Amino acid sequence: LVSRENHPQRSTVTVRGVPIGPDTVTLIAGPCAVETPEQTLEAALMAKAAGATLLRGGAFKPRTSPYAFQGLGEKGLRILAEVREETGLPIVTEVVDAHDVALVASYADMLQVGTRNAQNFALLQAVGAAGKPVMLKRGMTATIEEWLMAAEYVAQRGNLDIVLCERGIRTYEPATRNTLDISAVPVVQRLSHLPVIVDPSHSGGRRDLVLPLSRAAVAVGADGLIVDVHPHPEQALCDGPQALVNGDLDDLAAVMRDFPPLVGRT
Ligand code: PEP
Repeated sequence: LVSRENHPQRSTVTVRGVPIGPDTVTLIAGPCAVETPEQTLEAALMAKAAGATLLRGGAFKPRTSPYAFQGLGEKGLRILAEVREETGLPIVTEVVDAHDVALVASYADMLQVGTRNAQNFALLQAVGAAGKPVMLKRGMTATIEEWLMAAEYVAQRGNLDIVLCERGIRTYEPATRNTLDISAVPVVQRLSHLPVIVDPSHSGGRRDLVLPLSRAAVAVGADGLIVDVHPHPEQALCDGPQALVNGDLDDLAAVMRDFPPLVGRT
């Protein structure tokens, strides 16, 4: 279903009117985790000023350590909905458990499945049946074949509104949190009709790498970027070291401006 064999035209997925696909480069930005209404609104305004048309923010956080901040749950979803009202930015947020899909879908405009759940087949089937666009991150040890098969689980439930997100894979190299597999972007675009975006924040895990990796992603033909921003990253409850701050946002806007989309990429 996700292969280009029977669907040679590359697809555009529309999230509450915002397109992600070959005719544009869509910027999704916002805080890694929703912490407070003020922090979320400030981050959303920063994102919007940098050219973002979709707001990211985690209410359910899949943390490696059970002692780390796990997210605000439904309270976080309510904050996201309020910030959507104030800014007009549709919401992309993660769901980590099949039992929460209906709840998260009642607030979200796009459901995110993260790297740790990329082969949680019950969750993939549940998001496939939820009637909302899905952003499927690549499992941190998933081959491209495994990633596309995960997308197939979503598609099988009748939902082809799937955006694939390359977010780095685990390699032997510890200098970055993950190794951004930049070649995955054109490889997957040749194999699948689905849009492919890049997460330069979770791949590098370092603020200083976000702009270079964003440039690389746009230059190689990614259909969008998903970027962490935070008004006060030193106080962030999750992944502060990779969040862009106000001073970086002009540079991020310039990445989008200086690398105009390769319109109609095939
Ligand atoms: C995230 O985007 O909030 C996240 C946890 O990303 P990943 O699943 O890629 O680690």
